[in-house]
Amino acid sequence: MTAAAAGWLAVAGLGPGDAALITPEAQAALDAATDLVGYGPYVARVAPRPGLTVHASDNRVELDRARHALDLAAAGRRVVVASSGDPGVFAMASAVCEAVEAGPADWRGLDIRVLPGVTAMLAAAARVGAPLGHDFCAINLSDNLKPWALIERRLRLAVEADFALALYNPRSLARPEGFARALALLREVCEPARPMVFARAVSTPEEALRVVRLAEAAPEMADMRTVVLIGSSLTRLIPRAGRPFVYTPRSAP
Ligand code: SAH
Repeated sequence: MTAAAAGWLAVAGLGPGDAALITPEAQAALDAATDLVGYGPYVARVAPRPGLTVHASDNRVELDRARHALDLAAAGRRVVVASSGDPGVFAMASAVCEAVEAGPADWRGLDIRVLPGVTAMLAAAARVGAPLGHDFCAINLSDNLKPWALIERRLRLAVEADFALALYNPRSLARPEGFARALALLREVCEPARPMVFARAVSTPEEALRVVRLAEAAPEMADMRTVVLIGSSLTRLIPRAGRPFVYTPRSAP
């Protein structure tokens, strides 16, 4: 067997933060890897160990990072590309596929696997009950990779279709006014009492959760570590001691 034949690449999700939410499958890949590739704060979540070379990078160079990882795997290394949450949700799995599609033909023969993880919206939803218990969709509010007009159109159609929503990347530093515009749009379509959840840094020591009505929501309640959940017209609150439950019934009338 040649050295190159032993190489592999696993695109793994590390979950929302808590080590207990890393899947055993992802942990096994991390334990077997020779190289760890990813955005600095994500690879920092993996304990250093002898034999593991860490390639931390900036967040804006996804395709370069994917190509680098593929090069390493083609050279016989055992490579984990780490994402937070799930690698297929606004993360590195697409970048790896894109790099394979455009790259040298032999990359298509590599052992490449995508290992799922607990994405932020599911960790956030679980904290408050079941706000995503019926039909829902996820929208990335970052306009780094698509025009704002498209984000607004998807948001409007999603609430008009009465999906519950999960909004990722609600407020970027480069475009802080985007989320304020999103809230204004929601107020045009939805009733003021619509339940919303601002879930920040879920499953980390900095976790902060707020359940509010749309009328009380303010742009400052979200930042880049927050996922925002918005109920459908059927989503209800159950008041109780502490934070209320938020849930969407399984059936729509
Ligand atoms: N692949 C990741 C998402 C990457 S996009 C996943 O599946 O979760 C980054 C966005 O994810 C952040 O801006 C935020 O909206 C959300 N996010 C990631 N981790 C989070 C956490 N622990 N708590 C709340 N939101 C989180």
